[in-house]
Amino acid sequence: MRLNDFDAVLFDLDGTLYHEGVALPGADDALRRLQRAGLRTACITNASARTSEQLSQTLADMGIDVPSEAIYSSGQAAVDWMLETWEHPRVYNFGGAAIATMLEGKATLVTSDDQPCDVVFVGTHTRVEGVPFNMDRALVGLAHLRRGAHLALGCADRVFPIAGGGVEFGSGALGALFIYAANLPEERIFRAGKPGAAFFEHLCARLKVTPRRCLLVGDNLESDIAGGKRLGMTCALVLTGVTSRAEAQAADVDLVVEDLTALINLFDEQDAAR
Ligand SMILES: [Mg+2]
Repeated sequence: MRLNDFDAVLFDLDGTLYHEGVALPGADDALRRLQRAGLRTACITNASARTSEQLSQTLADMGIDVPSEAIYSSGQAAVDWMLETWEHPRVYNFGGAAIATMLEGKATLVTSDDQPCDVVFVGTHTRVEGVPFNMDRALVGLAHLRRGAHLALGCADRVFPIAGGGVEFGSGALGALFIYAANLPEERIFRAGKPGAAFFEHLCARLKVTPRRCLLVGDNLESDIAGGKRLGMTCALVLTGVTSRAEAQAADVDLVVEDLTALINLFDEQDAAR
C-alpha cells in the first residue's frame, strides 16, 4: 500500500484527528503531508449538531487546518438527501440548530403537529451542548411520522462519548424509538451518516473520486471501517479512539496503526524503500 495507490484520503474526526478538544498526534502533519503529495483530503463525521463552518473553526482552534468545504457531516448528508428528494421540503427538525441553518431558504421548517410535513429529522441531543431531549418536541415528530412523513436519521450511532467521560444516546438509538413507536417501514427511513453507503457515495461524488481510490482512516470498526470496506475503500484503523488493539486484531481491516504519525511514517518508509 503506497500513497500513489490513492486519489483521496478520508479522515474521521473524533478519535482520529482529535479527542476531547485536543488534536491527536500527527493530525495536522498528516493532512499537510498528504496535500503535498497531491492527494485530496476530506474529514468525515457523524455530527449533525454543527455546520461544516463550525466544525472547521473547532479544528482551527486545535491547530488543525481544514476548510469547511473539506468536511462532510451526517447532518450535511441528511440535508443533501432532503433537497434531492423534495424540491422545497417541509422539515420538522428534532435535532440541533445546525440543520435549520443548512436548510435556510431551501426548506420550510415545520414547528407544530398541525402543519404539513414531508420529513422529520432526528439528530443528536446532548445536555453538554445545550440541546436536551424534550418529550413534547419528540411527540410532535411522532405525530408527523404516524401521518406518513419520512424519517431522516442523523446517523446510526447507538451512543456517543461526551467530554469528561460517559455517553449520551446517539441518533441511531433515538431513531429506533421513533421507528418503533410509529411502526415505520424501511422505505420511509433515510440513515444519513456513516456507515451508510449513501454517505460515502455522496462524498466520493463531491470529491470526484472512486471509492476504490480512497483510503479511509478512522477509529471505529462499525461506522468507519465497515462502511468504507463495503464500498471497496482501503481502510486504516488508528488506536487513538474507541477500538482496542485486541479488537483491531480480530477485525477485517487493511492496516492498524497506533496513530496518524505512525501512518505517515509508514508511507515515508515505503517511499524511501522504492
Ligand atoms: Mg471516530
